[in-house]
Amino acid sequence: MKSAFNQIPLHFADRHKTAFSTPDGDKYEFNRLCFGLKNSPKAFQSIAQEVLGDLLHNGALVYIDDVILFTKTIDEQFELLGKVFERFERIHLKFNPSKCQFLTKSCKFLGFVVTPEGILIDKDKSISINEFPVPTDQKQIKCFLGCCNFYRRYIKNFAKRALPLTNLLRKDTPFEWTSETQEAFDDIKKAILNPPVLALPDPFAELQITTDASSRGIGAVLEQKYPNSEHEDPVLSPIIQKIDQNDVSPQVSNYFINGEGLLCHLSKRPARSPRSNTTRKQVCIPHCLKAKILESIHSEYGGHLKFFKTYHRLSENFFWQNMYKDTKNFVRSCTVCLSRKNGFKILPAPHQPVEQSQGPGEMCHIDIFGPLKTTPKDDLQPDETEVKGIVPNPRYNLRARAGNSAY
Ligand SMILES: [Zn+2]
Repeated sequence: MKSAFNQIPLHFADRHKTAFSTPDGDKYEFNRLCFGLKNSPKAFQSIAQEVLGDLLHNGALVYIDDVILFTKTIDEQFELLGKVFERFERIHLKFNPSKCQFLTKSCKFLGFVVTPEGILIDKDKSISINEFPVPTDQKQIKCFLGCCNFYRRYIKNFAKRALPLTNLLRKDTPFEWTSETQEAFDDIKKAILNPPVLALPDPFAELQITTDASSRGIGAVLEQKYPNSEHEDPVLSPIIQKIDQNDVSPQVSNYFINGEGLLCHLSKRPARSPRSNTTRKQVCIPHCLKAKILESIHSEYGGHLKFFKTYHRLSENFFWQNMYKDTKNFVRSCTVCLSRKNGFKILPAPHQPVEQSQGPGEMCHIDIFGPLKTTPKDDLQPDETEVKGIVPNPRYNLRARAGNSAY
């Protein structure tokens, strides 16, 4: 907008609040909303929101004096533009044509570039971060981290990667620029220069929350599968391509496409298997199906078997890289298995007082235990209640006599 704030007239009763004097002793007051007042942006924002009314979040967004209109078709865009112009004209607010962009597929908005594929970091901003000089004191580190913090959503494990720098901000830590801090500084710059494209979330698709915490940091990620990512597997797609091109390099020699058009993997059975000298044909599982396969093999149809049995069943028919590790993690974190492990523990029997006998030999107990090593003699160790001692009492041919003797 053209001199945005100055387009708003000030109420006569409030004009004295903007008064200022010149060195000559003259006093002036603003007749219109001026820059530099604490509540100018807020006042302008509320006016712009009021003007847009029902169009806000319904094809239009506004941040102070930046208005963005988004539609699916060009006709809708023209219709919306007409409405917006009419509303702003009604209250005599003017746009600056040199700052306006019409009918573009991508645009810069609040430091980001919005495109149909997703939201990107504004290249001009990332270049200025890349040119940031090596900090020489805490203030400069704060300044650098503040700039990067704006784009931290584009940097995986930002807190962890920036730790050597944030450590320098501690009060009792002397400022010492080491190779470790230089590495962290370069690493963050590099991550900002090569950012991923953040896709827009689909409100109707499934969302997944992943949380983690350690002594170094705490984090949570809200994830959603990007529609195209389900069809393209980063590991399998290159292999299929190589097979299509009749490539016979060792990386693809164990792979083939079976009669049903499925990518399969040939592998030897483990040495302890009864058919250890034979090979097995495993169907290659793409990344997006791993969890479903694990779920059905272990939980749905597997009866929550332990890791080795689950892995054995899985590896008979299926294959993917790191299947061993993934299966171990899956079984380890299975909530049903965890609840069983803790809920069905066999507790030791409670201790009971032994009834006191009246005289020696009146009452005794025999603990039967074993299996033990075979000895030349059969030993029987009764516990005598009265004297509370173990009386070793060797007996020959105990079994033979068992029918006739009290022992
Ligand atoms: Zn389980």
